[in-house]
Amino acid sequence: MKPTLVRPPLKDGVSSPVVTPIMPSVVHASRDPDELDAQYSGAAPGYVYNREGHPNADVLATRIDALEGASGGIVTGSGMAAVAAVLLGLLKAGDHVVGADQLYGRSLRMMSEDLPRLGIATSLADPTDAAHVAAALRPETRLVLIELVSNPTLRLADLDGIAALCAERGILLAVDNTFTTPASVRPFERGADIVLHSVTKLLAGHADVTLGWVAARDPDLAERMRIFAVTLGLTASPFDCWLAERGLLTFDLRFERAQANAARLADHLAAQPGVRRVLYPGRGDHPDAARAQGLLRGRPGNMLSFELDGGRAAANAFTRGASGVAFAPTLGDVGTTLSHPASSSHRALTAEARAALGISEGFFRVSVGLEDPDALIATFSEGLAAARKA
Ligand SMILES: *Cc1c(COP(=O)(O)O)cnc(C)c1O
Repeated sequence: MKPTLVRPPLKDGVSSPVVTPIMPSVVHASRDPDELDAQYSGAAPGYVYNREGHPNADVLATRIDALEGASGGIVTGSGMAAVAAVLLGLLKAGDHVVGADQLYGRSLRMMSEDLPRLGIATSLADPTDAAHVAAALRPETRLVLIELVSNPTLRLADLDGIAALCAERGILLAVDNTFTTPASVRPFERGADIVLHSVTKLLAGHADVTLGWVAARDPDLAERMRIFAVTLGLTASPFDCWLAERGLLTFDLRFERAQANAARLADHLAAQPGVRRVLYPGRGDHPDAARAQGLLRGRPGNMLSFELDGGRAAANAFTRGASGVAFAPTLGDVGTTLSHPASSSHRALTAEARAALGISEGFFRVSVGLEDPDALIATFSEGLAAARKA
């Protein structure tokens, strides 16, 4: 019997696959120390060790780079790993950072717990007005981190004002573009220095993979984040990257469909008894409607929020009644998901603090998916009927 080759040579044929192959190899063998040296110094192409980079991460990064108008983006093992690469990879003890006051919950936790523990001072500011951010700046402020649409009240950040302020003061502006996506806004074109994503959400889009991406306009900053991510093991697995690439290929189609569904559902909900208010950046009654038009370029996306009359009892009846949609705290899936901030993302806040944000027991955030719009409206109608009875 001929011994099997442990490492079969990859033969190049005259044809090539149409789908990116998955390359799970943790390590790549080099021919001699000179060539390995050349690979490490960047003089010769090739991969060495998975945590430092692999083909599937590079393919995915390049595709997201193209969407965001970036280059040299880094794929990370989660959206939070991308946030960590920015905040921990670029800041040092003694620095100060300003975060938007309605950032994603774990980003807020980094601001309130982890950065201060490491000697990095933090402040939160309302990003709907650049003057609030300006008031929070200190001489040692190095970076401002914002999201463009706040969670869950869907207020729009004053991106242009904050970008101008940061440019004037020499402060880095980092934008988490997860909610808004490059289909609506490409923050690098509007003054951001760093853009990041939870790829887990709309970009991968199927709720089956956890990944992040981050890029910087300045290649030196990108390199510092890349080295930090490699050192701490924030990098991603080949299979996850492959799944995300597969999802990303239909991102623009999914976005269009989800957005059309969201616009229709928002208008429908606004006309229903028992619905106190609907928040959707594409509606004229949204508090930031004019800004949404300019910032999101007429593409208000798939996220909406609404408030039911009747408090927790109505909320319980609604999620049980609307059985065709998942009551689950994520967003950007092919299926519609409902989240109830008072019992999940905002449960740690006092009732007064929630009330100040406008988050009552009847408040829901909806990530609208790709369902048939009539079926979607039908299941919401069942939920609303149940809520009115409660
Ligand atoms: C989900 C999310 C994150 C964190 O991403 P993970 O992939 O879950 O780690 C960060 N920012 C925003 C806006 C998010 O929605």
